[in-house]
Amino acid sequence: MNIGIVGAGVLGLAAARKFQQAGHQVTIFESRDDVGGQVVTFEIGGERIECFYHHLFTNDTVAVRYIEDMGLGDRLRWIEPSNAILRNGRIFPFVSPLDLLRYTAVPLAGRIRLGLAAVWLRRQKDYKKYEQVTARHWMERAVGRRAFEGVWGPLLRGKFADQADNVGMTWLWGKIYLRFASRSGAGGHKEQLGYLEGSFNTYIERIAERVREAGGTIRLETLVDEVTISAGRVSGIRAGGVDHAFDAVLMTTPNIVTRKIAPQLPVPYQEQLDKVRYQWATCLVLALDRKLSDVYWLSVADDLPFVAVVEHTNFIPASRYGGNHIVYLSNYVSPGDPVLGMDAGEVFEHYLAGLKAVNPVFDRSWVREMWLFKDPGGQPVITTNYASTIPDMRTGVDGLYLANTTQVYPEDRGQNYSLRLGERVAELMMKDAATSA
Ligand SMILES: Cc1cc2nc3c(=O)[nH]c(=O)nc-3n(C[C@H](O)[C@H](O)[C@H](O)COP(=O)(O)OP(=O)(O)OC[C@H]3O[C@@H](n4cnc5c(N)ncnc54)[C@H](O)[C@@H]3O)c2cc1C
Repeated sequence: MNIGIVGAGVLGLAAARKFQQAGHQVTIFESRDDVGGQVVTFEIGGERIECFYHHLFTNDTVAVRYIEDMGLGDRLRWIEPSNAILRNGRIFPFVSPLDLLRYTAVPLAGRIRLGLAAVWLRRQKDYKKYEQVTARHWMERAVGRRAFEGVWGPLLRGKFADQADNVGMTWLWGKIYLRFASRSGAGGHKEQLGYLEGSFNTYIERIAERVREAGGTIRLETLVDEVTISAGRVSGIRAGGVDHAFDAVLMTTPNIVTRKIAPQLPVPYQEQLDKVRYQWATCLVLALDRKLSDVYWLSVADDLPFVAVVEHTNFIPASRYGGNHIVYLSNYVSPGDPVLGMDAGEVFEHYLAGLKAVNPVFDRSWVREMWLFKDPGGQPVITTNYASTIPDMRTGVDGLYLANTTQVYPEDRGQNYSLRLGERVAELMMKDAATSA
């Protein structure tokens, strides 16, 4: 088959490799000037770094396999991170069960209930029983309203804004279950997070190289205008006014983009795509002349305009980035939020009081440079009964398929699951083609 793929993120690249291994021809169309999609990178102090913070969990075995296959296993570092939570203007370490007991922002009984709920959830394999209940309802009942408001309430609101109360318990189950599965040590108190020296772009570039070496084409800076359909069958891809014919097409685009580039999809499928809402991911990245804090991952449970402060250089040394201390201020916003209309300087002003809440002596003179990154497909909102809203990989048009992060449920978005889905959709497409031949 001659296969067209829309998107050179990890999913599109993993699918391309699978197709090539089975002897098929691939052409990937990518609107950006580089491969990697949401793992997009830029340079600080001569070193590449992700525009959106990235790390791996120890159970991200598919991602680790790719990194090893690309000959980069020796550059994958596993590091014990320093995690904390900001509540009532105080930074509380938040790694071990003991830290939870010391979390005085919540009354003792609430802390015990929070711990018990976490231990309970990490033992539950069957996520389906949580599908019909909201995270808020389940958690409030399990730990009490004050304890919920001391941890999960602000974090859910920070990530899902006006959608927070609709988020399904499965999403929270996944966070706790999968996160614990990535821990070791007695009581699961030791966490290790993985980072690829030189950025995750390194292994993704190598996959792209392999795709090209095997005869594949990757057209960068080529925006797909339309996936063309003729007589109920996909006919090809139109990009830059040029039509390219394909036997099959895989779209790896978020639902919101898919709706635009495939206007001829069957109406029921279009309606299915519209069922999933997305939050934009935004990251204001600061290069500072000194540390902001000693914490790698600071979850914000106070009412600040960002939900997490990820100080990358408390994980990977600042010396790799020309001595710059790199801080991501992460904020997920609904479409139409004022932040989306601001530039980096304006967002910084909007966040300034929040930065002082993290470190009261923070001064704007510490900032050497800043950047703002935004992605409209940052985070699908995992509502109750989410399984019924997931679009099928088969679009209802012969030869046309969709695979994206809305389909990795019950897992949350992650390179690992996108790579795995890329392999799965390729297998499905090849199986379907073999059956219809
Ligand atoms: C803020 C944030 C933090 C994250 N943190 C982590 C983390 O710590 N660890 C982790 O493993 N994962 C993390 N992820 C998730 C991970 O990055 C994604 O799961 C994964 O990269 C998704 O890959 P994908 O190929 O499915 O989609 P994408 O990366 O979105 O790829 C889709 C591609 O399609 C292209 N495209 C879109 N429209 C068109 C068009 N019309 N024509 C041509 N090309 C088009 C896009 O430019 C893009 O390159 C994070 C994501 C975000 C947003």
